[in-house]
Amino acid sequence: MEEKQEQTLAQQRKKELFFSPTNGYDRLAEGEEEKIQTYCEGYKTFLNEGKTERECVDYAIALAQAAGFRPLVRGEKLRPGDKVYRNNRGKSLLLAVIGRESLAQGAVIGAAHIDSPRLDLKQNPLYEDKELAYCKTHYYGGIKKYQWTTIPLALHGVVVRRDGTSVTVRIGEDPSDPQFTVGDLLPHLAGDQAKKTMGSIVSAEQLNLFVGSRPFDKEEGSDRVKLGILSILHEKYGMVEEDFLSAELMAVPAAKAVDIGLDRSVIGAYGQDDRVCSYACLKALLELTEAPRRTAVCVLADKEEIGSLGVTGMQSAAFDIFMSDLCDGQDASLKACYETSFCLSADVTAAYDPNFAEVYEARNSAYFNYGVCISKYTGARGKSGASDASAEVVGKVRRIFAEHQVVWQLAELGKTDQGGGGTVACYMANRNIDTIDAGVPVLSMHAPFETTAKLDCYMTYKAMKALYTD
Ligand code: MN
Ligand code: MN
Repeated sequence: MEEKQEQTLAQQRKKELFFSPTNGYDRLAEGEEEKIQTYCEGYKTFLNEGKTERECVDYAIALAQAAGFRPLVRGEKLRPGDKVYRNNRGKSLLLAVIGRESLAQGAVIGAAHIDSPRLDLKQNPLYEDKELAYCKTHYYGGIKKYQWTTIPLALHGVVVRRDGTSVTVRIGEDPSDPQFTVGDLLPHLAGDQAKKTMGSIVSAEQLNLFVGSRPFDKEEGSDRVKLGILSILHEKYGMVEEDFLSAELMAVPAAKAVDIGLDRSVIGAYGQDDRVCSYACLKALLELTEAPRRTAVCVLADKEEIGSLGVTGMQSAAFDIFMSDLCDGQDASLKACYETSFCLSADVTAAYDPNFAEVYEARNSAYFNYGVCISKYTGARGKSGASDASAEVVGKVRRIFAEHQVVWQLAELGKTDQGGGGTVACYMANRNIDTIDAGVPVLSMHAPFETTAKLDCYMTYKAMKALYTD
């Protein structure tokens, strides 16, 4: 009898004192499973419509306009409930819903990125070798190069022609379209290749996109296949070879977003880093039907995968100018606004992969179906390069998530000294804005086909909504 009582006390104390999170499916509210499915159908459409930053901006603007947003006019007075956006050169997008409080009391910002790793065409890409036509590529972002061979690819982008007019390219998405591919060596002849290290199994200069093989007409001479390809491009887009110089063409995986697993609990698709958080922020913002307490801002940034530099990256003054224009619309000080603002740097993290357990530290890893994942810090080798959110900021986010029944977890990328990563968080924090990282755990991050758990996708949206409406 005595012993049983003690055990009960221990059990009770464990419940009170231990931190022991459970699977998110055990913590869902009534009817939430259906909401997850509905949300993820919209997300899959977003993935299929936006495979490049330009396409994401176009699609997001269409959704925003349908939700009553209009372009911000510099100098205009802004009132609570006003919904405005600014298209930054077609590659990044800034949106805001004006709050009831002045911007001098700060904004709530969700910042995610819409660029993803891919194979960019070089500026002089097209050539013929042994009567096969290829385009040279220069990879964009951190990729394992061998993963981009022997998969169907689509060609997306824009060409600015000699006369200054531009034409949009999107080949390989319609079922009637042709697609493209990068080749790899047959195993029968791969004896030497098999001895190479991962980074050199396929070199960057071997990532050549196959584009055709049929010679032009019965024409004599060399480069007849290349001529055939240029003729098609000229007929379809009115372009000549020189126009490649002022083009941005990129090869991206042609596959569509699909459900993965017999239970359909996971989404498989290209570009989920970081369109999964971009969609969460955007959707949460577009659903603000009345003026929130504080002004809600959503940033869809470009160039995160290559350092957030450039005019459309998160380091660009474009963000400061947008915020400054918003502040001017209320005669508020930008300095005061930044000082009191809060930013969720919404970006993906690595999900624990039991097949590669050796790189993870299981007590501090993110797990599928355990919800949106907060990262107090990122970085590598002793938190180098991290924007370390303060205990106060983590505490505040914890409280808000708990109040709004958001299923969440907190984790690091992997084992200390195993590697590391970064996000846009440091660029927001450097502006004197309290910032924390949070987002969806991903398996096979940066691969042509990444996977995420539907529950975590939905919870990231729910988290963003909780912050916007708090
Ligand atoms: Mn990312
Ligand atoms: Mn990334």
